[in-house]
Amino acid sequence: DAAKNESSWLARYSDNIESRYLRRLDIITELKRALISEQSELSMVYQPKIDLRSNTVKGLEALIRWNSKELGFVPPDEFIGIAEQAGLIEIVTEWVINQVIVDTSTLREAGHPVSIAINLSTQDVENSALLGRFFEKLEQFELNSSDVQIEVTESDLVADQNLAIQNLDALRERGFKVAIDDFGTGYSSLAYLKDLPVDVIKIDKSFVLNLSKSIEDQQIVNTVLKLADSFNLEVVAEGVEDEVALSLLSEWGCHYAQGYFISRPLPLPDLLKWFEQTPYC
Ligand code: C2E
Ligand code: MG
Ligand code: MG
Ligand code: MG
Repeated sequence: DAAKNESSWLARYSDNIESRYLRRLDIITELKRALISEQSELSMVYQPKIDLRSNTVKGLEALIRWNSKELGFVPPDEFIGIAEQAGLIEIVTEWVINQVIVDTSTLREAGHPVSIAINLSTQDVENSALLGRFFEKLEQFELNSSDVQIEVTESDLVADQNLAIQNLDALRERGFKVAIDDFGTGYSSLAYLKDLPVDVIKIDKSFVLNLSKSIEDQQIVNTVLKLADSFNLEVVAEGVEDEVALSLLSEWGCHYAQGYFISRPLPLPDLLKWFEQTPYC
């Protein structure tokens, strides 16, 4: 009986490995197709971020979406990591950059000259040719690099600390603002934070989603705010889903907030409509 149990466990285990392997293969194949296809399966959505001192829109975060004809909706948390491992991230990021620049200039023409945050992976930050093209493209559209925030996750940063410092310095030399994304989940030490050339901390949404109810989360967020203040860093809280969380953050002096309570990430046409009716102006 024990042997039978073990073999069924093994069967399930290998089934699981095989299905994950097949899913990965599907994603790589379909993503390659999407990147060269004329019909755009890829798109960008934009989530507003507000300044809690003035209650006005501070900027937008650009987030990629993939609606695959074959696989349906595939979340970026699933396909970005696979794109990195499969050597496809440069093409994905190039696509993101070009789309974001066009959309940002459309927004400016519509009377909304907002700053924009883009998520980059380590491989992008190390890719000086890609960053050079990004910079040139901004100039071509008469946009300022100081209006662009680069978000890099804390876990990417802790993976290679010396390299991270050099690369972040290079970004800031080009005028980009740099934010540590998902702060609190990447296990960086406080000593490390002191040495990191960054401008902004984004508190991970896992500490913010239940802020109105969880005393522990309230203590964590409070501590991060004090820490950021002593290092002169700006703080964004992501994942603000209710009014109580928003007013707590504002009371505690958090600078910026982002989350479904303010707005979901929106496609450009919906964002333009949102701007017309938002109280945050
Ligand atoms: P992130 O950069 O930390 O982005 C925040 C995520 O939280 C987004 O998920 C956003 O839709 C979601 N979010 C925002 N407000 C709320 C809220 O109030 N409640 C909840 N539950 N969620 C909220 P999304 O768009 O699925 O992106 C997931 C991650 O994928 C991003 O996390 C980022 O790391 C990565 N990603 C997204 N777009 C890109 C991209 O263009 N390039 C790269 N390299 N990574 C990207
Ligand atoms: Mg982000
Ligand atoms: Mg985040
Ligand atoms: Mg994240």
